[in-house]
Amino acid sequence: MVGDLQTGQDLSIGAGCDYRAIVEHEILHALGFYHEQSRTDRDDYVTIWWDQIIPDKEHNFLKYNDSFITDLNTPYDYESLMHYEPFSFNKNESIPTITAKIPEFDDIIGQRLDLSAIDLERLNRMYNCSKS
Ligand SMILES: [Zn+2]
Repeated sequence: MVGDLQTGQDLSIGAGCDYRAIVEHEILHALGFYHEQSRTDRDDYVTIWWDQIIPDKEHNFLKYNDSFITDLNTPYDYESLMHYEPFSFNKNESIPTITAKIPEFDDIIGQRLDLSAIDLERLNRMYNCSKS
């Protein structure tokens, strides 16, 4: 669940998902972060191929306006740990559902290696932490 439920919440990491970056991704949700491509300005940065999405999975590609999620005055981040990869909820294994407007970033979006510099900056801004 995204954000503070006031009661704490359990995070369960299933088999095959027990990688550090995936755990970090789920923790970022719990800390209040949505997927990067949910940003209101995302259509300037990525294309959503709606007719390639598995039926009934389209809700995963909704965007939310600024009154609901905040970008904390940070730029769109193709490197974010919270970004989907091109073949997310795709019905045809060779056709992507989300691609970068700058094609070079198609190899970057969806990275699950580590927090990006901007992920870290957002964490610091969200929780009023200063960088050391
Ligand atoms: Zn997620």
